[in-house]
Amino acid sequence: MSIRILKAGQGILIDTGHTRYALDKVSGNVAADYNLITHAHIDHLPYNPRGRVYASKETLHLARLRGYRYRRVVEEVKDVEDIDSGHILGSKAFLIEGKILYTGDFNIWNRLFLKGFKPPKTEILIIEATYGAPDFIFGEFNKLLDKLLSTISRYILEGRNIVLEAFPLGKLQLISEVLKNVKNVYLHNEVYKYNRAYKELGYIKEEKRVFKPGYVDTPFILLSPIRRLGTEFMERYNPVSIYLSGWAVRMRRLGIPISDHVDFNGLIKTIEEIEPKKIYVAYGYSLKFSKILSDMGYNAEPI
Ligand SMILES: [Zn+2]
Repeated sequence: MSIRILKAGQGILIDTGHTRYALDKVSGNVAADYNLITHAHIDHLPYNPRGRVYASKETLHLARLRGYRYRRVVEEVKDVEDIDSGHILGSKAFLIEGKILYTGDFNIWNRLFLKGFKPPKTEILIIEATYGAPDFIFGEFNKLLDKLLSTISRYILEGRNIVLEAFPLGKLQLISEVLKNVKNVYLHNEVYKYNRAYKELGYIKEEKRVFKPGYVDTPFILLSPIRRLGTEFMERYNPVSIYLSGWAVRMRRLGIPISDHVDFNGLIKTIEEIEPKKIYVAYGYSLKFSKILSDMGYNAEPI
């Protein structure tokens, strides 16, 4: 029987003929034997999944913090191998029945305690394309980190307060660990919640303090979710905000494209390593990226 790979809600359904695998955010309306969850970002966590749930212990821990408590969790799934995907703590890619690789979100660089994605060669590839357009080129993680540290030093020397803005779960935990010996680093509540989880799971040694206006030493560095600080804060502290995201390459504001995702060049390099016969492109620029792949001679389609 042929393998069917379909979009299902915000996730993907694979039917291999004898087993149905729901990948990431597939709702309980869709019948599946297993729900494989790659990581704990909201757009990948299913509500009330129908099948048995398989995810790393870190993903399950972070998901619980976000209010997702899964029953029927299994320790392993026959014929499914998980592979570190380097995106956030606990993130995994899945190799299903030895021939279908689902990357989930991934990053190719080793970043502190996160190992970069090292994919096996596979026949069928389902790959993310969050940054699947050619202008999303970020370069090496270490060089971006150097740039961040030199930018921070410059503003600290000028006596400026600094806000580093990004999604609360992901790179901010890495950056807080990088800044562990720097004075006056504070966390927004929402970021603190995930830092504490990383600490409980044994990946971060030191906890930073939560930011409380009026109770901070200046100049400070605040790690915050994007655009979460009000006018009063801005007027009181007049900070320099540095935006940390792959989208920084397209924005006019001060930013550095430190991303938890692979960039365009990394996507191509990863596909060259995998040598797939068939590619399904999911998330982000799925249409554009599958067209680029088709033009390069790959058998690719969006999902
Ligand atoms: Zn993600």
